[in-house]
Amino acid sequence: MLDVYADPIVHAEMIADPIRTDSYRSAILEQSQLIKGKVVMDVGAGTGILSIFCVQAGAAKVYAIEASEAYILAEAVVKENNMHDKIHIIHNKVEDVELTEKVDVIVSEVMGTFLLAENVYPSVLVARDRFLKPDGIMIPSKASMYLAPFSDTEYMNKILSFWDTVPQKYGVSMSHVKPLAQRFFTKDARLIYKPSKSVIAQRNEITQIDFQTVTVDDVVNVKSCFDFTCSRTETVHGFLGWFDVKLSDNRILSTSPDEPETHWKHCVLYVDKPFTVNNGSKISGNLSLQVSPENERLLDVTLNYKVENQDPESKSYVIDVNTIYTYSYYIDKQFG
Ligand code: SAH
Repeated sequence: MLDVYADPIVHAEMIADPIRTDSYRSAILEQSQLIKGKVVMDVGAGTGILSIFCVQAGAAKVYAIEASEAYILAEAVVKENNMHDKIHIIHNKVEDVELTEKVDVIVSEVMGTFLLAENVYPSVLVARDRFLKPDGIMIPSKASMYLAPFSDTEYMNKILSFWDTVPQKYGVSMSHVKPLAQRFFTKDARLIYKPSKSVIAQRNEITQIDFQTVTVDDVVNVKSCFDFTCSRTETVHGFLGWFDVKLSDNRILSTSPDEPETHWKHCVLYVDKPFTVNNGSKISGNLSLQVSPENERLLDVTLNYKVENQDPESKSYVIDVNTIYTYSYYIDKQFG
């Protein structure tokens, strides 16, 4: 998994996302009174961009820890910005790093889809426990995860209508592929940005994480109940998962459907049998997200839900970061 980070396109995807990059930049510069003259650790430094923001905010020294070959990018960038006297790049997993001093601030950007995919938070917590001074600060300091039911008839029709266009183009009828296409498309979690109009009930905050105090167990296994009251008559196609993180006292980086699209988009969990709800209909259930015991890069998701007096339903998904990401955010933005 870490091998993918050697490829600059992965970093372009993240840096090209202005909500992500501007939020971090502003949050770091706004907290310069906490960073000035201090020692910072950047866990998973990538190109070193957050380390550079920290030096711009006045940090005396930054340990930029990067496990993958992306450290080569960081070396080039730090040199190009003339900061090699302040930023110490360490090519190693943070778990294996040895330092002779503790740090005042830990900064990281390791959020995956639905926050926990990619499973890098345990490494950040190891860094906190090994290297952060007792009164040190974490950026981000907190995170929340959210879930809401959604409807997307228009989107699904668009995806499936392709099969109706084949006869015009090539004289071969393919409309019978449609149900199979729908089944495959909805089988596993997808990354799709859904605007707020697709959401049909007040979202539920399914968990809150405080990075100053949370344990590794809390970020590898999340279980939560939900309870939605629908706001209109609509077909429910599934549930959306997203997150926000608190970067400073007055700055939240949100990937909510109410906010513009970020490269994280939303984690879309389609149900197998779309169902109809009305204004006031209740959907209740529970969700579990667990780092897969067989492969720590996979996130196993189980959704149990029940719509009023209908039978309960259950579906399991695997979020595989190797297949879910397309880097489409960067590419779409570059080429319109
Ligand atoms: N901070 C950069 C890159 C974020 S991507 C930015 O904001 O643009 C997360 C980075 O964490 C990747 O480059 C990945 O290789 C690195 N990483 C993941 N696990 C790590 C670990 N255990 N130790 C050090 N780096 C790690």
